[in-house]
Amino acid sequence: MSIDNYEKFLTTLNNDLNKIFKYQEEYIFCKEGCSFCCEQGEYPVSELEFEYMKLGYEQLSEDTKEVIKKNIQELKNNPQKMYKCPFLINKSCCIYKHRAIVCRTFGIMTETKDSVKVPFCHKLGLNYSNIYDPKTDKLSMELYEKGNFKIPLKPFNLEPQEVMNFDLAKELNLDFGERKRLIDWL
Ligand code: SF4
Ligand code: SF4
Repeated sequence: MSIDNYEKFLTTLNNDLNKIFKYQEEYIFCKEGCSFCCEQGEYPVSELEFEYMKLGYEQLSEDTKEVIKKNIQELKNNPQKMYKCPFLINKSCCIYKHRAIVCRTFGIMTETKDSVKVPFCHKLGLNYSNIYDPKTDKLSMELYEKGNFKIPLKPFNLEPQEVMNFDLAKELNLDFGERKRLIDWL
């Protein structure tokens, strides 16, 4: 893998995602130490992303590596569809710079072909909670209208095939390879 080329790709991707987060900032309450989105997920990642995550892992202290190995072993002993990411330690991602692409999209209301998904943390008083009505368990147009928001509420399609710039990937000669759940790479 060409690390330089993948990092160039990530720089463009991060810029694109930052614009989306900025656009929706009135509804976003992500902050350091908030890690619910890394505690229940499948985390699909491509082979290329996984190779990059491994580079992040190699830079960690031996103690941290031991904690991650233990987390992985516990997951292997007790397989679950949705699981806590083994790289999450004390509510913090220990390979943050090297995290996968899906990790960079957590927190935005997402539109797919068939549905609109609001980040689950709206029920925890976090993203989009300012327009969530717990009584109906739905986003509330009434709260939206009362809120006087400057920016319209808008879902984005953040599926990998939409969010990734494949022309740039081709130009940079990147081959993402197979995609599977993080735990299945480990
Ligand atoms: S790699 Fe980091 S950001 Fe991604 S799910 Fe794991 S802990 Fe969260
Ligand atoms: S997406 Fe939700 S759970 Fe994740 S950091 Fe943001 S506010 Fe916290």
